[in-house]
Amino acid sequence: MNVFTHPPHLRQYLSKIRAANKTIGFVPTMGALHEGHRALVDRAEADTDVVVMSIFVNPTQFNNTADLERYPRNVQADIAFIGAKKNNIVVFAPHVKTIYGSNVVPKDYDFGSLSQTMEGKHRPGHFNGVGTIVSILLKTVVPDRAYFGEKDFQQLQIVKKLVRSERLPVTIVGVPTVRETNGLALSSRNQRLSAEQRREAAFIFKTLKEVKLKFRAKSIPKLHRYVAAAFKDHPFLRLEYFEIANEKTLKTAHRKHKKTPYRAFIVAHAGNVRLIDNLAL
Ligand code: AMP
Repeated sequence: MNVFTHPPHLRQYLSKIRAANKTIGFVPTMGALHEGHRALVDRAEADTDVVVMSIFVNPTQFNNTADLERYPRNVQADIAFIGAKKNNIVVFAPHVKTIYGSNVVPKDYDFGSLSQTMEGKHRPGHFNGVGTIVSILLKTVVPDRAYFGEKDFQQLQIVKKLVRSERLPVTIVGVPTVRETNGLALSSRNQRLSAEQRREAAFIFKTLKEVKLKFRAKSIPKLHRYVAAAFKDHPFLRLEYFEIANEKTLKTAHRKHKKTPYRAFIVAHAGNVRLIDNLAL
């Protein structure tokens, strides 16, 4: 497996791949890899000849310094996890200074309604950071296809919009969420959960599934009351937000309209670990 830290070296390598008429898939990650990331790589390997996986903990998308500092980092373990012997996979693990120089600030984006709710509202500046790094990485790698998880559904929609507005010649592919057998969405942050918290955190997906079951019969305000009550006395989880949104615009839904696709979103905290999940309704 080739590992690059400098963009010019990566570009030089990829220009040879392109000259040989091979296609390039791209999987951006922040490392601490798990089976969710592997699903993105598997999909990219199935679709394209060479897969570039970036491992970069992007400081500009963290609105909370403690969260950035606590974020797990181990590039060698990540390389071993993906398979050090694989020669169709390339890792790009740049340093913060290489990407940002001494000016670690995001660009200012206008993602319209897509960034006004949920993560956009609860993590101010987060999507400017995401837009900044995804744009830099896509312009460095210039892949044919790039893969993003539906676990971060709002991010997936924002990346699609970014690519349209910057006219980047890449197809964005969404990949379904990979879960533990108890339903908990895999996340790098799960490493920080105790065994008990990990068991109890399955409650998030269980609640989303209940909402899906009730969605036809119950009004949206009733569903909000149901979820608030379900979390109220939970001994291990604190609800940050529950939202039902139009899947396309991500605008908050207050009432149901026929033929509109909806999705339910939950963010909850187990101790100081922030957990995110969503489900199509
Ligand atoms: P991260 O390293 O958390 O920034 O995630 C890198 C990519 O992996 C993003 O596109 C995520 O949406 C995706 N991802 C993270 N967890 C999962 C999961 N459990 N299932 C599918 N994709 C995931």
